[in-house]
Amino acid sequence: MTNSTDDLQTRIDTLARAPVPPGRLQIGGRHVAGEGGEAEVISPIDGRVLTTIATAGAADVDRAVAAARAAFEDGRWSRQPPAARKAVLMRLADLIDAHALELAVLGVRDNGTEISMALKAEPGSAAATFRYYAEAIDKVTGEIAPTAAGVLGLVHREPVGVVGAIVPWNFPLMIGAWKVAPALAMGNSVVLKPAETASLTLLRLADLALEAGLPPGVLNVVTGPGHITGEALALSRDVDVLVFTGSGATGRRLLEYSARSNLKRCYLELGGKSPNIVFADAPDLAAAARAAATAIFRNAGQVCVAGSRLLVEASVQEPFLAELVAATGAMRVGNPLSLATQVGAVNSDGQLQGNLRFVRDARAEGGRVVTGGERVLADTGGYYMAPTVVADVAPAHRLFREEVFGPVLAVTPFTDEAEAVRLANATDYGLAAGVWTANLSRAHRMVRAIRAGVVHVNTYGGADITVPLGGVRQSGNGHDKSLHALDKYTDLKTAWIQL
Ligand code: NAD
Repeated sequence: MTNSTDDLQTRIDTLARAPVPPGRLQIGGRHVAGEGGEAEVISPIDGRVLTTIATAGAADVDRAVAAARAAFEDGRWSRQPPAARKAVLMRLADLIDAHALELAVLGVRDNGTEISMALKAEPGSAAATFRYYAEAIDKVTGEIAPTAAGVLGLVHREPVGVVGAIVPWNFPLMIGAWKVAPALAMGNSVVLKPAETASLTLLRLADLALEAGLPPGVLNVVTGPGHITGEALALSRDVDVLVFTGSGATGRRLLEYSARSNLKRCYLELGGKSPNIVFADAPDLAAAARAAATAIFRNAGQVCVAGSRLLVEASVQEPFLAELVAATGAMRVGNPLSLATQVGAVNSDGQLQGNLRFVRDARAEGGRVVTGGERVLADTGGYYMAPTVVADVAPAHRLFREEVFGPVLAVTPFTDEAEAVRLANATDYGLAAGVWTANLSRAHRMVRAIRAGVVHVNTYGGADITVPLGGVRQSGNGHDKSLHALDKYTDLKTAWIQL
């Protein structure tokens, strides 16, 4: 390690020893207890209690929604001049940067993401996201329609009102910012419900937002279990739009809650079983193998766009597998607070047991475990799993069809481009994909043929805030990121004026 890495590691270790105060709800700009009491937060690093968070019951959620509604209606934020809203969100981005290390370490202790990745993907992305949407505030305009003479058709873009946002435990700050920043930028109020195993950084974000000058009540945070706190938010009759990232099972429930309450619009960012397709003519097979390992194993596979199905041309399968196993073996699994760690902890014991079940089922169905397959570092008390590669996975196998959301890669060979497309699309999901080929025409054909929200070519992952992220089929609807995300947080209103 270099001196500066040593210094950074020392600062991380110091922050990681600090006690974490209990998390309270934030409603109307005040920290309050939840009517459901408190729940322990278990750190996946060592399986020990890190702190507690409040459990918000239905009455707490109603209070948070009422605070958001009052803030929206009196215009303390929604009717501020664009330049004033922009200044607040810019200040918030600066505060996130100023507290980046503290936020990253807190998040890692809460959810187990490796710190090297958390630093970039969590406070780093969140600050960039707030800046991006702050910059957009005074550049997004309405329209004048091309009507016949004698009338004037104006199209106004208005905030929707109260936005409910429910987010998952992987990358809570980044995904939270993808929802909160465009919602606030357009003048809405927000009630945010983090995942119960990753609430701490989003509670800090709400504090920083107040410090930046966001008026109280505009951003409220309610913590607690999905089936209590999340359900109450999704059933609220005073939430206008619900934005969600998480599993398909929860997404289905949210649509039901919407139907049972006020028909609120629901935008769902769900799971994936994304194909990473390697053709024999890839420009550099060794580089593709290293990227295939990172595409699935970073953050212990807990990445929605993870390349979890490797489709590899049969003629190069065995040499490619050898490169892949070598690249996988070189990835360091361990304490996510170490800068040297490349594969951190699995988020919870339940998630770890689910991952191991997938491997058992894959073996039973005829899959060949080439490397990994077991829990490691159990003596730490934490939840760690060896990066796992399973070859000979057929389309009928569970591992081919279902999202693991863990460090388990399914490998399936193909013989030609048509079969690669067939296999890639043989899934209910449609979130992401990768294609490795030096043939430009083939690359373009594949981009068109694959049903997914993003197709990476000769790389995997890493897309920035300027491009949309959203799924097709059962990976969801609507988009996070880019200016397209603003459509979720605005209504169009027509003024038709006789001249
Ligand atoms: P999850 O669906 O279990 O939980 C997500 C959120 O929903 C949490 O806040 C949870 O408390 C809440 N929730 C759970 N049950 C609820 C209910 N009945 N009513 C209301 N809210 C409820 O998902 P998870 O395990 O936290 O996250 C992993 C999933 O998220 C994976 O499927 C992953 O692919 C997906 N994901 C998708 C994207 C994307 O951009 N498409 C990004 C990250 C993660």
